[in-house]
Amino acid sequence: MSSTPRCEDAGGAWSAVRVAAFRPGAWSAVRVAAFVPALMRGRLRHRATPSVQSPTTTTDRPPGPATVPSVLVAVCAVLGLLVGSFLNVVIARVPAGESVVRPRSRCPRCGAPIAARDNIPVVSWLLLRGRARCCGMPISPRYPAVELVTAASFALVAAWSTGAFGAGAGDPSAAATSGPLVPAAWAGSLWPLPAFEFLAAVSVALVAVDLEHLRLPFWRVVPAWWVGGVLLTGAALLMGHPDAAVRMVLGGVAYWGLYRLLYAVSRGRLGYGDVRLAGLLGGYLAWVSWGTLVLGAYLATFVGGVAFVGLLLARRAGFKTELPYGPPMIIGAWLGLFWGQQLADAYVGRFT
Ligand SMILES: [Zn+2]
Repeated sequence: MSSTPRCEDAGGAWSAVRVAAFRPGAWSAVRVAAFVPALMRGRLRHRATPSVQSPTTTTDRPPGPATVPSVLVAVCAVLGLLVGSFLNVVIARVPAGESVVRPRSRCPRCGAPIAARDNIPVVSWLLLRGRARCCGMPISPRYPAVELVTAASFALVAAWSTGAFGAGAGDPSAAATSGPLVPAAWAGSLWPLPAFEFLAAVSVALVAVDLEHLRLPFWRVVPAWWVGGVLLTGAALLMGHPDAAVRMVLGGVAYWGLYRLLYAVSRGRLGYGDVRLAGLLGGYLAWVSWGTLVLGAYLATFVGGVAFVGLLLARRAGFKTELPYGPPMIIGAWLGLFWGQQLADAYVGRFT
């Protein structure tokens, strides 16, 4: 972080447009956007239909409609920009105990209301060159950064959900042979997409909060358990895999229990927020598969270790420094989700 003074009130980035977008009455628009993937499901399922006779043959596969994933990725990126600007408000206002809806955005220095045109994600910050129009107060680059990172995360998850990368990339038969709820488009279904876009938004918010405040408060993590749980359970039932929902509950409890144990023996070095976070991530990882949970848990310690050694070498941290452990847990979980099955296959040996 630079030493330049910055706008402390994230509410300053809160536009009338976005207030309207996140009021309960306007949720129908968001719901419609969330179901765009489901509407596209029919075509994607066609694309992901495996050839039963010869899974390795690529010539008899129907040509994939490349435009469908592109549209999906673009829609999710725009959705990510809007969600990112909402996260900015959540990140800055809620630790201060303020409402995310009221008051409407005002300049924290001079009190002038902020016009909707100055609240367009990323664009306004660039046009204003990082300064408020009213009095020239500097606006932290964190605002456009969170918006861009959220948009990129949403696009990445959308691309992942259509099998755009990973070992099964471009090969629908790989999705069918490596299990029912694994990468490469979850075997052609996009029902899990809303659940994982939700996890992406939660991940961005929690990483930002943990890096800044070194804590993950109860109300930030625990509501995400219930929203994520409902979305994942719904996806599991719609896909005809109720076992995934059972795994989710068991895995969430198991990962939570592991960190509860670590918390008890760490004597305060591990925060209780990390225990709550483990419950959330464990549920998502186990929903995919038990192997994914094991890998996600392992990769969290791996990422945390590499980051710690890097900080030590850069002399940015010592053995007594209090470091946030939420970001490594979240990054490890996503690595496990993206590549867990491929890593497991490479380790155990290819099985069909
Ligand atoms: Zn001002």
